[in-house]
Amino acid sequence: MKDLRCIGCGALLQTENKELSGYTPKSALEKGLETGELYCQRCFRLRHYNEIADVEMTDEDFLRLLNELGTTDALVVNVIDIFDFNGSVIPGLHRFVQSNDVLLVGNKKDVLPHSVGTGKLTQWLKERAHEEGLRPVDVVLTSAFNQNDVRNLMKKIDEYRKGRDVYVVGVTNVGKSSLINSIIKIATGEEEVITTSRFPGTTLDKIEIPLDEDSFLIDTPGIIHRHQMAHYLGKKDLKLISPSKEIKPVTYQLNPDQTLFLGGLARFDYIKGEKQGFTAYFARDLKLHRTKLEGASEFYQKHVGGILTPPQADEVANFPKLRRVEFSIKEKTDLVFSGLGWIRMAQPGVVACWVPEGVDVLVRKSII
Ligand code: GDP
Repeated sequence: MKDLRCIGCGALLQTENKELSGYTPKSALEKGLETGELYCQRCFRLRHYNEIADVEMTDEDFLRLLNELGTTDALVVNVIDIFDFNGSVIPGLHRFVQSNDVLLVGNKKDVLPHSVGTGKLTQWLKERAHEEGLRPVDVVLTSAFNQNDVRNLMKKIDEYRKGRDVYVVGVTNVGKSSLINSIIKIATGEEEVITTSRFPGTTLDKIEIPLDEDSFLIDTPGIIHRHQMAHYLGKKDLKLISPSKEIKPVTYQLNPDQTLFLGGLARFDYIKGEKQGFTAYFARDLKLHRTKLEGASEFYQKHVGGILTPPQADEVANFPKLRRVEFSIKEKTDLVFSGLGWIRMAQPGVVACWVPEGVDVLVRKSII
């Protein structure tokens, strides 16, 4: 078993962990050994169902893959989640891609309120990318499930790749697989996708989807962004906090000395300033709870896993402690709870945001 590799992507085959690359069920492995058609489950599904699945990879492998990006002549398509920009950037991507062009794709545009204009959002994304040192050749907004968006993206890819291979990169959960599956559907119709391995045994679980006679669209595994909230939640809770429809902002008029709990996942304190409106942008299913700042910590201890969920009662023991970060705000600002959403405030004031240890909280120029 030690040196068996997938003939599709070159990943080392294993039968232990479904979430990791090279996974194949034992029965399929045995059958494959007989027929000589040894595929990992991911390539098997692509071949037979025109569908790619998520895999994750270790940081080390991801670094190797990123390094490889600098040594190939390719168009790099970086998919990010507009709803969670900070949780979906790949740190240092601009250094890895070297002189290759990067096309930035802001996915999940359907979850942002429609009042956010496309032009403004594109500009906003461009500015954020520049802050990260990334100079994309273009920024495209998509919803992975919108055919027109996907067709438009395909057109842009074709325009910018200039006959070269295309590497699609992104952290987990940004919708990379959904996008590629939509592309495959449009590009192939019902045809079977042929996966190939041009560098057997040396590839890092990349999946190649032919674009024309000698170029490929290459899907790469997503890396877990350590600061994503997703890291600390079960599947059910992750679904609950990930908006699947347009977010409906909710405005709370708060006096200083009031607190908002975002389920039991995070907390927002208004400490000093005039009474003002705070607009919350979170998934509809995440319940917000308003209370007095005084005694809020005791309230949390008592009710986390109860009134304040997620986390669920049986997950509380393993859920990280909340960490407090104080901000003094002067102008219209978004306070971003990485992976959850954000709160916008327009008037000056002092606030504190509490997030699980390990998850980021930051301020940014208001997106809306
Ligand atoms: P990957 O880990 O980057 O490959 O992400 P997936 O394709 O598995 O998607 C992660 C989650 O986001 C899934 O629940 C998808 O249904 C959802 N998703 C993907 N693309 C979009 C999109 O454009 N809009 C919305 N609302 N959800 C999306």
